[in-house]
Amino acid sequence: MSKRENLYEVVLEQVTTACEALKANEAVCELLKEPMRTLNVSFPVKMDDGTIRVFNGFRCQHNDVLGPTKGGIRFHPQVDMNEVKALAAWMTYKCSLLGLPYGGGKGGVEVDPRTLSKAELERLARGYIRAIAPIIGDHKDIPAPDVNTNPQIIAWMVDEFSKIRGYNEPGVITGKPVNFGGSLGRTEATGYGTALAAKLAAEKIGLEMKGARVVVQGFGNVGSYAAKYLSEFGAKVIACADYTGVVYNENGLNIDDLMNYVANNDRVVKGYPGATKEMAPADWIDVECDIIVPAALENQITEDNVDKVKCKIISEGANGPTTPEADKILTEKGVLIIPDILANAGGVTVSYFEWVQNLMNFYWTQEEVIKRLEDLMIRAFESVFKTYKETDGVSMRIAAYMVSISRLGDAMQIRGWC
Ligand code: NAD
Repeated sequence: MSKRENLYEVVLEQVTTACEALKANEAVCELLKEPMRTLNVSFPVKMDDGTIRVFNGFRCQHNDVLGPTKGGIRFHPQVDMNEVKALAAWMTYKCSLLGLPYGGGKGGVEVDPRTLSKAELERLARGYIRAIAPIIGDHKDIPAPDVNTNPQIIAWMVDEFSKIRGYNEPGVITGKPVNFGGSLGRTEATGYGTALAAKLAAEKIGLEMKGARVVVQGFGNVGSYAAKYLSEFGAKVIACADYTGVVYNENGLNIDDLMNYVANNDRVVKGYPGATKEMAPADWIDVECDIIVPAALENQITEDNVDKVKCKIISEGANGPTTPEADKILTEKGVLIIPDILANAGGVTVSYFEWVQNLMNFYWTQEEVIKRLEDLMIRAFESVFKTYKETDGVSMRIAAYMVSISRLGDAMQIRGWC
C-alpha cells in the first residue's frame, strides 16, 4: 500500500476507534467514512514557449454538515485523490473540534511548481480555479494555501474567481496577502497554537514551562513560530531540525536570531553559528527533552524510531507526524500527545477570522486576532482534556476525535440526516 493510501487508512482507523468509544450512531460513522463530493479536473495551461500542457487537479469536499467546506490547495507532483481525501477529512474534524462553522475540504494539482516560470505558475493557478469554480464560493467551499501555494498564488486565484463572478469575492479563498484582504496574525497563527497547546499540556502534567527543554523538527512556518512562542513562554529550545541537519545548544537557542539566519541562508538551519553542536537530520529524535514539536512532515515518529523518544509532551505541528503504531507505544509510556487536529488548528482558526473579516469588510488588529485565537484554542484544549480524563483507555487523539465527531453527529441528527 502506498503512503498516500495509507494516510486515508490512518484517518479511517482513528475515526472508527473514536466512533466505537462514543457509541456513535452508525449512520454518522458511515457518512464520515467517505467524502460527500470529489472532483477530478483536467485543464490546459499555455507554456512560455507557446505549447499547451494539460494538468490534473483535484478537489474534495468531505462533509459540510457544520458549514461550507474549507481547506488548502497543494501543488505537488505526487498529489492524488487519496491524499486529498485524507487531508479533507482531517479538516472536517479540526474545524468541528475548534467550533468553527465549517466542514472539511482539500485540493491539489499534480505539478512540480519549481519547473514553471512565474507567468506559467500564474496561468496554472488561474486555470485550476476556473476548473473548480462551479463548486467553490464564499458560502460553498473556501480553499486556502497549502504545500507550495503562497499568498501571491492565492491572490491570482481570488482575482480569477472574482472575474468569473463579476464582482470582488475576497472571502472565496483565505491566506491572501494582508493588503488584499488577508488577516493580521495568520502567518504566526499555527505555530502560536502549537506552542500554546504545549503550554496548556505542561500545566496539566505539572511541568514547569520555565526552563523546559524543547526540540522542534521542521523550522518552516509552523516550527519557527512554535519555537519562538515556546521561548517567549520561558522554555529553552535546545534543538531545531530541518532536512539539512539539527542545530543544538544545551543553553537554549536564540530563536529570533535563528529565524533571521534561516531567512538569509536558503531557509535552512545548517551552519547556524549560535549552535554548540550540529547533528545529522534524523538525530533530533535522540535528544533528551521535555517537549517535542514535530513540524515538518507526516510519518516522522514511527515504530522504527519511537524507542528513542525521551520527552513528556508531543505537540503535533505537522499533520500526521506520528504513525498509529508509534502513537500507541508512546501513549502506553505515558507521553502526552496533543494531536494534530488540535495542536495545529491555529491556522484554520485565523483563516476563519480572515473570512469573517472579508464578509464584514471590517478588519481587526493583530492583538484582537491573537486574543480570539487563544480563546478558541483554550476552549478546544479543555474539552479534549476533559474527555481524555473522563473516558477510560483513550488517548488525547481519540478524545479529540470524540469531541469533534459528537458535534458532527449532533448536527447531522438536528438537520435530519440520520
Ligand atoms: P514549511 O514548508 O514552511 O516548513 C517545513 C519545514 O520542514 C522546513 O523547515 C523543512 O526544511 C522541513 N523539512 C522538510 N522535509 C524534512 C525532512 N525530511 N526532515 C526534516 N525536516 C524537513 O511548511 P509549514 O507550513 O511549516 O508546514 C509544516 C507542517 O505543518 C506540514 O505538515 C503542514 O501540513 C502542517 N500545517 C501547516 C499549517 C500552516 O498554517 N502552515 C497549518 C496546519 C498544518
